[in-house]
Amino acid sequence: MTIVNYLSQYIVPFHGLGNKEHVFNFVVTDEFFKHFEDDTINGGNINVNLKVLNNINSLQLIIGLKGKLKVLCDRCLEYYDQEIDFRDFVMVEFGEETNFDTNQECVFLKKGETEINIAQLIYEFTHFALPLQHYHPDTKTGETGCNKEMLDLINKYLTVENDDIIDPRWEKLKEIKNKN
Ligand SMILES: [Zn+2]
Repeated sequence: MTIVNYLSQYIVPFHGLGNKEHVFNFVVTDEFFKHFEDDTINGGNINVNLKVLNNINSLQLIIGLKGKLKVLCDRCLEYYDQEIDFRDFVMVEFGEETNFDTNQECVFLKKGETEINIAQLIYEFTHFALPLQHYHPDTKTGETGCNKEMLDLINKYLTVENDDIIDPRWEKLKEIKNKN
């Protein structure tokens, strides 16, 4: 299956929908993420709920994401499942060219199009859905869910590295300062 074909399941036809709200549901699995270059998210299983409001000169897309995403833990450097439950909207206006750069207030769809592939938008929204810090969730007993052996190894490595950085001259200076 080619890339274009796989992501074509996320095409939403909006022509003739009228001004009412329309709901579409999609599923995203590990396979989805293989079609994008960035590897912050290594896979996942999420349900996508899309609401489309068809205005005369624009579309409003409300995208809800619920499920789990596979991301790297910043603390122990192993993958874990991050639960997400996220909803946001994006305005789609019609322009000369299709441009899904979500840093803008709205994205653009080429004039005359009657359908929109929301795969790229789902992908970007999965990143917005992530918390700023990526850590294994704590266990039910309140302990860290991280791989403890990995944490020990990382801590050991960090301690050694820090020892190397300390310049003996600075140590002397600190001693002198402490005496005063
Ligand atoms: Zn971890």
